Amino acid sequence: MEALNLSPEEWQAWAKKRGFAPFVGKQVYEWLYVKNNLDPESYTNLSKEKKQALLEDFSWKGWEIEAHLKSQDLSEKILLKTLDNHLIEMVLMPYKNRTTLCISSQVGCRIGCTFCQTGKMGLKRSLTSGEILYQIILANQLGESRVTNIVFMGMGEPLDNYDEVVKACRTMIDHKGLSLAQSRVTVSTSGLIPEINKLGHDVPVRLAISLHSAIDEKRSAMMPINRKYPLADLKKALENYPAPSRYGITFEYVLIEGENDSIKDAKALVKFLHGIKAKVNLIPINHFPGIEMRPSTAESIRAFQLYLTERSIPAPVRYSKGTDVSGGCGQLAAKRESEINADPRVLHRQRRAAHREKIREKSKKSDNEHLAHSGSSQA
Ligand code: SAH
Ligand code: SF4
Repeated sequence: MEALNLSPEEWQAWAKKRGFAPFVGKQVYEWLYVKNNLDPESYTNLSKEKKQALLEDFSWKGWEIEAHLKSQDLSEKILLKTLDNHLIEMVLMPYKNRTTLCISSQVGCRIGCTFCQTGKMGLKRSLTSGEILYQIILANQLGESRVTNIVFMGMGEPLDNYDEVVKACRTMIDHKGLSLAQSRVTVSTSGLIPEINKLGHDVPVRLAISLHSAIDEKRSAMMPINRKYPLADLKKALENYPAPSRYGITFEYVLIEGENDSIKDAKALVKFLHGIKAKVNLIPINHFPGIEMRPSTAESIRAFQLYLTERSIPAPVRYSKGTDVSGGCGQLAAKRESEINADPRVLHRQRRAAHREKIREKSKKSDNEHLAHSGSSQA
């Protein structure tokens, strides 16, 4: 799995160091990202010596799947245990014509937004580029169809792990790598301005901004990062972001009852968005134990949405995926990692799934024994 940390250039350098032709590096890169194969012993176009070199130089141990929960809305929440025993989460969302994967960039997050469960646990560590890419390869191996869209909306603040995230994004959109369309990779951020200013130039991916309020005082109370990078500066950075103009920038706006969901808030938002090609995703907050905040009422959501759409700002209401299997993106891992509260529904489901698996294994074993018996009697 360590092998996923290498860029194409680093693979060529590895091949050279090992005394192999540079194209050996290309062959390995192709096995990893085109074929999504993490078992070097099965690389049929490599000699025994080259396979051995790969086994000697890298650890290929994968992560354990701690839980794989399927939601009624068809999304799949996959909880993964890193080699150093941290939990991170990804969510697979199959749609008719695309498969979106929501991935994590860090274990925890140090930005500390008041409404976010990942924020409550603080930052444990950042993920390497290989660990970020591993989530996609795993999803491709597990899912029925290949991942077509990536959103960095799981655990962590991607721009607080800038170098590793950029490196991973390059392999995502590399046509010799995972070969995803650049318009289908979205980095979501709470608004780290120096990194926003670099991102579009370093790797041309789409940007989503977690805004949640266009009033400085309120935004600072919800998102401490706003004290360092206030709205006016954020707006300047967004106006300069080299996003392909036809896509513009997506804004995430979590709707919290009585906090940021009035028409005054909507007015401030329209003013902030003036001059930016924007789409706003309205997300009723996902409640979790330990916070007072509640989702806005259906009535105020409708009024807020109407205020935006009447002013030509697309504003679909989005519900976090997989809420029936414990919270939105990132929330399950945050909950487990910090052991805030074991959700009895999840534990119950897991136990039942483990039980079913055991029974399945048992019956498979007895079927095999039966077959072996009948086979030997026929022989
Ligand atoms: N750190 C990045 C990306 C991860 S958070 C960011 O903040 O953009 C992904 C999204 O989940 C963000 O838009 C965040 O605001 C949202 N989110 C966090 N807590 C939430 C909650 N309790 N309910 C709904 N959305 C939440
Ligand atoms: Fe971090 Fe994003 Fe959660 Fe804020 S919303 S604490 S930036 S993960």
